[in-house]
Amino acid sequence: MTKKLAIIGAGPAGLCLANTLIQHTDLDVQVFERDAHINAKPQGGSLDVHVEAQEALRAAGVYEQFALHARCGDQEDVILDKHASKHVHMRAESGYKNENENNNKNKPEIDRTALRHFLCDALPEGVIRWDTKVDKVEQATQGSPATIHFDGNKHSFDLVVGADGAWSKVRPLLHTIPPFYSGVSCYEGNLRDASVKQAQEDFSDVFCNGTTFILAETDGLMVIQKNSGDCYKVYVYKSKPEAWAREAGIEEPSALRAAMLDDIKDWSPKLHGVVRALNIDIFKRAMYMLPSGIMWESKPSITVVGDAASLQTPFAGQGVNLALIQAHKLAQSLVSHKENQLLAVQDYEKWMHDEANSKMTLTWTNLQMFMNKGAIAKLKQFVA
Ligand SMILES: Cc1cc2nc3c(=O)[nH]c(=O)nc-3n(C[C@H](O)[C@H](O)[C@H](O)COP(=O)(O)OP(=O)(O)OC[C@H]3O[C@@H](n4cnc5c(N)ncnc54)[C@H](O)[C@@H]3O)c2cc1C
Repeated sequence: MTKKLAIIGAGPAGLCLANTLIQHTDLDVQVFERDAHINAKPQGGSLDVHVEAQEALRAAGVYEQFALHARCGDQEDVILDKHASKHVHMRAESGYKNENENNNKNKPEIDRTALRHFLCDALPEGVIRWDTKVDKVEQATQGSPATIHFDGNKHSFDLVVGADGAWSKVRPLLHTIPPFYSGVSCYEGNLRDASVKQAQEDFSDVFCNGTTFILAETDGLMVIQKNSGDCYKVYVYKSKPEAWAREAGIEEPSALRAAMLDDIKDWSPKLHGVVRALNIDIFKRAMYMLPSGIMWESKPSITVVGDAASLQTPFAGQGVNLALIQAHKLAQSLVSHKENQLLAVQDYEKWMHDEANSKMTLTWTNLQMFMNKGAIAKLKQFVA
């Protein structure tokens, strides 16, 4: 009998896993997604796709689509201080533009919306069950199939994979350690159309074909990131109490913009100008993470990928990359050990614990570096 596999979550991890399994196995794969449809919520900004994650997309059968959307020319990095003085400008080298170049500098940018669209489009009709929020996952005994509860129904599967992000419903079946607040929250805003043109004309030296990092050291971090269609995303990360992102009184765009300006009041007027130019869709969010080094005993019918497994802040740009690579590794392990599901899960999780541990440690180290004194000097040293 064909084995039945449920993936909870149609984010990068779940969709990459579903595509890879459909390409390489005869498993009966279903993806459960709470979003009502593909465009139900904004997917966030651009991300650089590392070489190993590109391999994962190749195994998922979507590399051609990836190459169509990848922006190889948008890989510049600029580092400024809060007075908008430039310390580093790394231009995309010609090597970056060669999609076949297998080096660590080959990290083209892609918009997350495009990534979700081509990963969804590649799946056969009906694999994704939109508008289906999973309420609970349970397992009677260690060896029994896992059961998911949704919309008043319950279905059992040979394997349930939690690809359901930060607040996973699947993870608590593997361990009971919850995500914790990282101490850092952010404002997120957009520059589109006329506002981009005006801001670029007025403050050209803070924009680049890639990402500008404005390091205020103990005062926070601003990131100005090019997205497709000549749009930019602007993030301001600050150390804030956990409740800040939920505090009443600063939900309105004008109040958020005023709070943002107040938080960077002694920064360069050019950076105030960028915030004033933002479109009205500004919002705030708190950054959560899991501690690195979590271990658990593998179970044959339950595992996790992506943020459900290794939630981290964006300070090393690893989240989506790790999500895609984990999906690839899990699919490979299920193919290699198709007669022994426990071994497949064990092999994947053994690799995953080590890999996640090193990426989560790097991310935490970067957060500390970006938000503290000496960040510019350390980054210059790193670049050199
Ligand atoms: C501000 C910010 C910037 C970032 N920048 C980068 C970057 O530059 N590079 C990078 O690599 N990473 C970045 N990340 C991290 C990245 O967004 C995540 O690591 C990545 O999205 C994880 O993918 P995922 O598929 O595991 O989870 P998600 O993208 O969270 O997807 C989970 C899916 O599961 C669905 N779901 C959740 N619960 C249920 C349920 N009960 N039932 C059904 N469906 C459910 C959700 O609707 C969602 O579609 C950033 C994150 C943030 C917050």
